[in-house]
Amino acid sequence: MTTWSLVTIVDDGEPFVAIRVSDGSLREVPTLKRWASLTELVDGWPAAVEALRAMDVEGAAPLVGVRLLAPLRYPRKVICAGVNYRRHIVEMGIEAPAEDWTPFFFLKPPTTTVIGPYDDVPVDGPEAAQLDWEAELAVVIGVGGRDIPPAQALAHVAGYCVANDITARGYHRRAIVPADAFRYDWFASKARDGSLPLGPGLTPAWLVPDPQDLRIRLWVNDELQQDGSTADMICDIPTLVAAASQAVTLEPGDVISTGTPAGVGAGRGASLRPGDVVRTEIEQLGVLVNRIVAANPPRPRTPSRSRLEEP
Ligand code: MG
Repeated sequence: MTTWSLVTIVDDGEPFVAIRVSDGSLREVPTLKRWASLTELVDGWPAAVEALRAMDVEGAAPLVGVRLLAPLRYPRKVICAGVNYRRHIVEMGIEAPAEDWTPFFFLKPPTTTVIGPYDDVPVDGPEAAQLDWEAELAVVIGVGGRDIPPAQALAHVAGYCVANDITARGYHRRAIVPADAFRYDWFASKARDGSLPLGPGLTPAWLVPDPQDLRIRLWVNDELQQDGSTADMICDIPTLVAAASQAVTLEPGDVISTGTPAGVGAGRGASLRPGDVVRTEIEQLGVLVNRIVAANPPRPRTPSRSRLEEP
């Protein structure tokens, strides 16, 4: 079976939906022209599935001279799980949670954090920001709901992407604290512009036989930093989807990022500098390649800033 993912492409005109096959090549499929965007496609996910399954992937025409944008350019919500890998908890100097632990979530602003798979990540004042990497499996919701039981949660998942939950560690712990509740600034550290490279495509859930058995790796300048498995998650994907849906109504196109394995920079006092290139890979899903760039003066957010080609 050829593995493929749904991608958002731009050439000279409006972005459109195409596919990326597992060798990294891009193809145009006539079936996909019925949707103006991947957001629209995911909005009607149950109806789209049959057409997607029937697509002629092998016979699709190759696309060249185009660029990839984030598959979902404007997710409705970006919900991120924190401390969700056992070995990552150890490296952060935190005690393993008790059996009755429930997921910890925070939000990223969807329209300003999400960038494409080969876009630059801006850093404003690298010394103060202490920008860190977090390779993550991102789950895209295809069927919305509220109070979703864990046993039915995977039926609400459209598919999976690779994400990098870029974090400004330097802004996380506040120096001046009026009360314990305000000790950590999740907004300043997690919500920064361009802090969620996402892609390269949306791989439909039926093409990922076991999302809890995927190797997830991240390199900085070709040095391997993270090498984990989604099997190390504390709260698995059904638990995360169910828990998120108890707090908010999940909608098609919502992204739930599921936490990062061990090997982040904070564990060894390392952080990203302008010029560094971060490569984030999940087996079966593909790779993101993002260069860190100085954000001073601020750079406008346009699709045209893709600098890196897929390796
Ligand atoms: Mg994270």
